[in-house]
Amino acid sequence: MGLMTVKQYKDSLKDGRVVYYEGEKVADVTTHDSLKVCVDTAAVDYQMAEMEQFRDLAVVTNPQTKEPISRYYYTPKNSEDLLKRHELMVAATRFGSGVIPFSHDIGADAMNAVIITANMMGNKEYIKRAEKYHTLLQQKDLSVACAMSDVKGDRVLRPSSPKQGHADYYVHVVDRNDKGIVVRGAKAHITAAAYCNEILVIPCRNMEEADKDYAVAFAIPANTKGVIQVCHPVEHNRSSLDFPIDFPIRTHTDSLIIFDDVFVPWERVFLCGEWKFALPLVYNFAYLHRHTAASYRIPSAEGLVGAAVAMAEYNGIKDVPHIREEITELVIYCNTLKSLARASCIDFATHGGIPIPNPVLTNMAKYHFATNFHNSLKLVQDVAGGLLVTAPTYKDFQNPDIGEYIKKYLGGKAGVSAEARLRMFQLLRRMMQVYNEVVAVHAEGSFQAQRQMIYFESLKDMADYKKMVEFAAGITHQ
Ligand SMILES: Cc1cc2nc3c(=O)[nH]c(=O)nc-3n(C[C@H](O)[C@H](O)[C@H](O)COP(=O)(O)OP(=O)(O)OC[C@H]3O[C@@H](n4cnc5c(N)ncnc54)[C@H](O)[C@@H]3O)c2cc1C
Repeated sequence: MGLMTVKQYKDSLKDGRVVYYEGEKVADVTTHDSLKVCVDTAAVDYQMAEMEQFRDLAVVTNPQTKEPISRYYYTPKNSEDLLKRHELMVAATRFGSGVIPFSHDIGADAMNAVIITANMMGNKEYIKRAEKYHTLLQQKDLSVACAMSDVKGDRVLRPSSPKQGHADYYVHVVDRNDKGIVVRGAKAHITAAAYCNEILVIPCRNMEEADKDYAVAFAIPANTKGVIQVCHPVEHNRSSLDFPIDFPIRTHTDSLIIFDDVFVPWERVFLCGEWKFALPLVYNFAYLHRHTAASYRIPSAEGLVGAAVAMAEYNGIKDVPHIREEITELVIYCNTLKSLARASCIDFATHGGIPIPNPVLTNMAKYHFATNFHNSLKLVQDVAGGLLVTAPTYKDFQNPDIGEYIKKYLGGKAGVSAEARLRMFQLLRRMMQVYNEVVAVHAEGSFQAQRQMIYFESLKDMADYKKMVEFAAGITHQ
């Protein structure tokens, strides 16, 4: 089949899936007033594959079949492949007005983690199923969401703990027969699942023997019987109070996915009871996906620098010492993220026979972006000034009685119009939405998840450094 066109992708979503939005069942996600904006955002991946300008980045030749496939479904062989994938995600986010399409990247991360884990287990049946599924994605160019985050109930208790309010806070196997398994539970915050073809489900934590029914990974089409999605609302229109902008809004919704006794055939099951391998699967997904996160955050870090520079210039303060310092802080923030994201491709690790971005550097990149994001917003807010929240609207600007006053009094330094300043404030307000702040903190795992990985992945280095200083101190025994 090969690559899907934008039209084929959209047509493929008219499949009877069960999706709710603002309390109502959605007949067709591609025509729904709000969700069609999200569908268009996800379609950017398919659009880029059709564009001459991006073709070399977005499409590779399948080494086995010699057919064109999405780069996301090409298994990296070396650092150059990892860097190309990184560059594709940065380019897709820039082209998507600061939003990554999420139709291939997260699913590919989960699929690669499944393959790596199957290889680590040495389980021939799982390797065969994972490779077959990989081939299906390559050949049909399907979009895939990754459903990892369970709803969890009491976070401190184990999934199987009888103290949990009920047994279904983590997705688990409730029945099995010679054809497959039946699963029940719910996953939260699953980005783009409402408009992906497939949902790839993996566990979200370590498991013990008692939790073995919760150690389950599988893939299902999004229209599978018993799968119910509840989306959160998105801002899908520009307000009439805003200055018009001549390109589309890009945004995503994230689904609460309910698995109401869903049947999964064995050929689509990749983990079922091997509780010791739940954590390696989670970790390998996290290594890959945090690199995706670090990559798609680069344009937003660049945007913060650009907006601070623009506002400083508009307001005539670009050479003021403390403003320069604040812009310098933002440049350091942006370039540290870029360097860590690139370095993790160069200094890669190999897990289950597949090169993956360096786990320590990748987690540092995501952690750096997330822990410094709010501080970076604060710096831009300081540079921009209070009009960021008190500015009159586009409607005021257009009003013949007051518009001229606004043009006169809200201009910046000589030659900078009030409209330029008001437009930049408008953009900044969008960049600074609470949603983006929470995405920085929680999406791809909260702070502690990264600190934990950085610590455990650095144990060997730490032991070497200790030896080094003991040698320098002349300590030969303790
Ligand atoms: C916009 C957005 C998009 C997302 N997209 C996806 C997606 O596509 N797929 C997906 O699978 N997930 C997705 N996520 C989920 C994301 O990975 C989780 O939000 C994140 O892992 C935190 O989990 P939580 O939201 O349940 O918060 P919680 O787990 O409740 O975390 C809140 C706090 O509790 C702490 N905590 C939790 N459990 C424990 C414990 N046992 N011991 C000690 N401390 C604990 C955490 O460290 C944190 O400080 C998305 C999240 C967001 C916000």
